This record gives sequence, structure tokens and C-alpha cells, in this order.
Amino acid sequence: MTKPAVKPIKKILIANRGEIALRIMRCCRDLGIQTVAVYSTADRDLKHVRLADEAVCIGPPASTDSYLSVPAIIAAAEITQAEAIHPGYGFLAENADFAERVESSGFKFIGPTADVIRVMGDKVSAIAEMKAAGVPCVPGSDGPLGNDRAHNRALAKEIGYPIIIKAAGGGGGRGMRVVRSEEELDESVDMTANEARVAFGNPIVYMEKFLETPRHIEFQVMADEHGNAIHLGERDCSMQRRHQKVVEEAPAPGIDEATRADMGARCVEACKRIGYRGAGTFEFLYEDGNFYFIEMNTRVQVEHPVTEMITGVDIIKEQIFSAEGRVLRWKQEDIKINGHAFECRINAEDPVTFMPSPGVIQQFHPPGGLGVRIETHIYNGYRVPPHYDSMIAKLVVYSNHRHSALARMRGALSEAFIDGIKTNIPLHIDIFNDEAFIEGGTNIHYLEKKLGLE
Ligand code: ADP
Repeated sequence: MTKPAVKPIKKILIANRGEIALRIMRCCRDLGIQTVAVYSTADRDLKHVRLADEAVCIGPPASTDSYLSVPAIIAAAEITQAEAIHPGYGFLAENADFAERVESSGFKFIGPTADVIRVMGDKVSAIAEMKAAGVPCVPGSDGPLGNDRAHNRALAKEIGYPIIIKAAGGGGGRGMRVVRSEEELDESVDMTANEARVAFGNPIVYMEKFLETPRHIEFQVMADEHGNAIHLGERDCSMQRRHQKVVEEAPAPGIDEATRADMGARCVEACKRIGYRGAGTFEFLYEDGNFYFIEMNTRVQVEHPVTEMITGVDIIKEQIFSAEGRVLRWKQEDIKINGHAFECRINAEDPVTFMPSPGVIQQFHPPGGLGVRIETHIYNGYRVPPHYDSMIAKLVVYSNHRHSALARMRGALSEAFIDGIKTNIPLHIDIFNDEAFIEGGTNIHYLEKKLGLE
């Protein structure tokens, strides 16, 4: 067999901001790859902008005119002669048209092909693909909901209330509505479709059984363009507020080796079926011992570090290697899960009202020590701009066992000091002292119930 041609990448443009841009830049440095940062006028002082080999201003603060501007990003890649573009997460990371434009302009998109992003980005077609691959899905409408109200009602009755109406193009925890009785159904379908049209430019909605007490468990996969794929085990991301993850951990409490192997193998099978390349995540709801696929993320995720800590695999590095056309370096049997990791998403927000709290960071003392990893772009005197996501840092800890990792996170949280803006560190301290969380296996509604929001 002839070895596939590997095209080493010499320069990468990072089409993102904040901690993930810094994370990607650091990985490029490890690999001896030159970096290009792009930034909006609100982000001149971002750490990676200062540290990258080159930096290009791509527009004003509003993301639509900068981080979401495809022409501005392509132009920046052209003038700096970058060879590849890493989209990070959020912004254009799951935009198939962007991936297509990147490649038709002669650059490598660090991620799957545009066609795969398109299929998996539409939740209705993604579910159809998963069913075909033998991955269990939530009982539901098996495709988009039409205008036939009687049919929709019959369907909901058959599935059994409560059900959830979801937008095919939804994301970021938006575009979903729970329906508890038939009286609310028609209006909920219309409202979700209207909101989806405005928010995602796609009015298609579908129906799923609303699971009352599931956990959110997701599988990390990695694939090359030669048909090889592996999984890196699972993460538990059940600690959520408004469908947004707050704390993540790996491995998921109570998932045994055999279950992991079985579900992981199904995800690997799905990757092969759809021709996946690069890093990806299959998200599931897990209830009463059963997994139900909900969606796939065709990019690196915020919570990827917890998997890195327990497997020793640098996910960003593997993404770059995959984009270079290399054969996956790992076989499934090479992947060993060791120890336990947690991640806290630290946001610039009021810990009680959750209102964003942008402003100048007067003092920042990061925690440290064995098994403590902090991914952040903030520093003393840095101004958190009001224009973007409020996440300012990820605090990740690792230890040999879950209980010692919990203790390590409590220590790290008590050591972390950020002055000048409000953060949700007090909320994290609460969570890591919560008996049920310490026990492990709390469901996706637990945090909101605890906060009295449900
Ligand atoms: P998004 O793309 O916006 O992240 P997902 O489909 O991944 O949307 O769902 C996000 C969250 O919404 C899940 O983690 C879960 O908390 C909740 N959710 C989604 N589908 C269901 C369902 N069928 N039953 C109960 N909760 C659900």
C-alpha cells in the first residue's frame, strides 16, 4: 500500500478569539507552525493577538462584521499567505458555507468537509444518519413536522407527553420548547418555527420525547480522511443552566468499560459511515441505562480538555494532523482512560443573577499545582469586552480518582482570585460542595432545581 501524501501545514490562521484562540496558538507553537491571529477592534489586547506571529484586524466589535465575516477572514488568510484555517468553536466553526469557501479559496479547513458539516449540522438529517448507523435516538417525529396539525397531535400522543419541539438548525441551547399537553402543541410548534426562522434562517422543527431526568453524556471521536476512526471515551456535561454547560467531567460516573466500548464503537461506526474527518462529538441523553443521540458537534468543544487529561491525547494537535492528511496515529486499543478530570467554565457574570459583568480585571491570581490546568486569555488589566460570550477561563483539574479530583477542584477554586469584575466562581464552589454532585450522576435539571429556577 502506498503511503497517503501528507501536506505539512506551515501557517495557520485562527478564526476565533479568547481562550480557544490561545489554545490553538500554543498547539501550533508546539508543532513549529506559524500563526495568524484575526481580531475585532474590541480585541486588540487579546493575549494571542500579542503572541501570534502575525495579527490582522478584521472589523468592528460586532461579530457579524468581524468573527462572522467570511470575506474578512478569507482576505486575512490571503494577505498573510496562511495555508489553513482553524475555526475553533462557535462563530463559523459549524458553518458549512464557510468551510466550503475556505477550501474553494485554496486553504485547508481544519475540520470535516463542508458536506459532512451540512448533514450533521441539520439535526433532522443528523438523526436520520445516526439511525441508519445503528445509533439509538430519542423517540420522535422521524423527520420534520409538517403543517398537518391533526397528524402532529396524533404523533405527540403516540410519543407521549411531555414532548419537546426542536429546531433542525438550533444550537447553543436555543430553539427548543417543551410541551406538556395537547392544548399547547399547535402554538408551540408555530412559535418555535418562527423563532428558528429568525435565529437560524431555517424554520424546520421536529418533535422528540422530552426526557424528564436524563444525564448529558457525550462521546469524543477522532477520524482521519483515510477511513480510520477512534473514540476517546465520554464526558458527563449534565451540570447545565438554560441548556448551557457549566461543569464537565470525564469519565462519566457509573459508565462501565463495556458500555463505553459499545457506545464508542457505534460512534466510530457512524464516523466511518458519514466519512468524518477530524475531531467531533456525539451528544446523548442518558436515562435509565439507555443512550439517546441528540446531536453531533462537528468541531472541537469547549470541554475537550477533560478528555485530554484522561487520555493524554492532544485533541487540537490531532485536528491539525488530520487536516494535513496524516493517518490517525492511534488505534482504539492504544487509548487508555486514566484518572478523572473536571472542568469549570468561569464566566464574567453575576453568580446570583447571571447578568454579564464585563469590565477591567484589576487582579488575577490563577490557581496552580499538580493536576491543575487553566485555559484563559485574561491577565491583570485586561478589559473583558461586552460584545462576546462571557466565558473568560476554564479551570481544569486532574487526579487519579474522582474523589481526589473533586478535592483538587475545591482547592483550586478557593485559590482562584479575580478582582474588578464579577464571576461565577462562587457558583462553582457551591457545586463542588453539593452532596448529590459529589455523589455523581446528577441529571440535566439538577442545577436549575438547586438554584430555584425550575
Ligand atoms: P443545542 O444544539 O442547542 O446544544 P441539543 O440538542 O444538544 O441542543 O440540546 C441541548 C440540551 O437541551 C441538552 O443537553 C438537554 O439538556 C436538553 N434537551 C435536548 N433534547 C432533549 C430531550 N429530548 N429531552 C430532554 N432534554 C432535552
